[in-house]
Amino acid sequence: MLGPRFHLDHMFSRRRLSAYVDGELGPDERRRVARHVEECEDCGRVERSLRRLIGGLRLLGGGRPPTLADDAIERVRAADGPAERARSA
Ligand SMILES: [Zn+2]
Repeated sequence: MLGPRFHLDHMFSRRRLSAYVDGELGPDERRRVARHVEECEDCGRVERSLRRLIGGLRLLGGGRPPTLADDAIERVRAADGPAERARSA
């Protein structure tokens, strides 16, 4: 199930996860990383951590506040694995 394609996508995605979360990837790269984080538990976890971190930085920096939808997604994600860090910033 985890063939060579998976491994290549894994290397590809790991290098681009932060750019992906920042929305800096082009459509093709973005699609490839999006597909990978869906099937790779490891990268999925990193992606969630990055999103949480960036969300926290945005709040601290006075950027756009998270929308209700973002907040709901965040709660679902937080419930879906061991909490890495409480959202107490
Ligand atoms: Zn991966």
